[in-house]
Amino acid sequence: MIVDSYGRRFRNLRVSLTSACNYACTYCVPDGKRLQPAKEELEAEELWMLVELLVNSGGIEKLRFTGGEPLLSPKFDLLFSRAMELDFLDVSLTTNGQFIPKKAEILLKSGLKRINISLDTLDPESFKEIARGGDLKTVLEGINILKENQVEIKINMVPMLGKNENQILPLLDFCLERGIELRFIELMNMGHLRSGNQYLLEFLGMDKILGYIGERYEYSRTNAPYDSTAIRYEIPGKGVFGIIANNSEPFCSSCTRLRVSSNGLLYGCLSNAANFDLKPLLKTPEMDRPKRLKDALNTALKHKQDVSFTGEVTVMKFIGG
Ligand code: SAM
Repeated sequence: MIVDSYGRRFRNLRVSLTSACNYACTYCVPDGKRLQPAKEELEAEELWMLVELLVNSGGIEKLRFTGGEPLLSPKFDLLFSRAMELDFLDVSLTTNGQFIPKKAEILLKSGLKRINISLDTLDPESFKEIARGGDLKTVLEGINILKENQVEIKINMVPMLGKNENQILPLLDFCLERGIELRFIELMNMGHLRSGNQYLLEFLGMDKILGYIGERYEYSRTNAPYDSTAIRYEIPGKGVFGIIANNSEPFCSSCTRLRVSSNGLLYGCLSNAANFDLKPLLKTPEMDRPKRLKDALNTALKHKQDVSFTGEVTVMKFIGG
């Protein structure tokens, strides 16, 4: 097992099936680039071979499909149902939810138990302005279908000053009423946000988020798994919400995430563009693979930031959010 000086090791693998997305969220991707896949995206079997190699040598216990938009990828059905048949502690996905009604059959037939759905607003107009694609009604329909089938849902919201801060309480109420855990993600200074002043203008931190919530509810901090990225709060008798406070209270020192992008690059940290190209492994003779994999995992672990999330020029859509 590869462990670093902070005691960190990899337990969670995020697999980006494609970097194409049907949305162009203002904080993630400049408009016009949404459907752009990465150069040299791998075929399903190639990507799966890398996943298996990482799982077998990296101590991976949980798998999450992401992207881009994972449900947009023709690889999804095959790889998701295959992963669900294996012995992971958890298999899940992060999606914008737009294709859930279309994909409900395969999701449910494969035995989906948990899902993260990104939703920044319940207002159709601001939905259009932020997501710049899709429609709110279909996402809500998808949420209903999964709820009816007892799938555990977490909703991810990125609150932004002047954009959707007025949606913090409506989204929280929506989630509490439905037994859904809402996760507020502090805006990350990534990709195109690193140039210009959008990040500075829109960043809305944990204190402010809690300030809004405190106007309506009493809450107290509650338990979270040790390598959870979210700080969790309980509203007695109502439910739980979380804040992924990458800026206000970074979680880097207990991060166990590893990412493989749709073009076969291994990333040890969301906040570091450095990566290890796994594609040559696809052609490496079997006997030489363990050494290369060890090198890859060691390098990825060294790429983790020590204590704080500084952000990178890389875009979530490519690295796999
Ligand atoms: N398309 C899928 C979705 O929308 O959930 C998966 C990929 S998306 C990149 C994964 C998550 O990254 C979403 O919850 C999105 O809100 C978040 N995200 C992307 N860019 C971000 C940024 N700059 N700051 C905070 N969260 C970001």
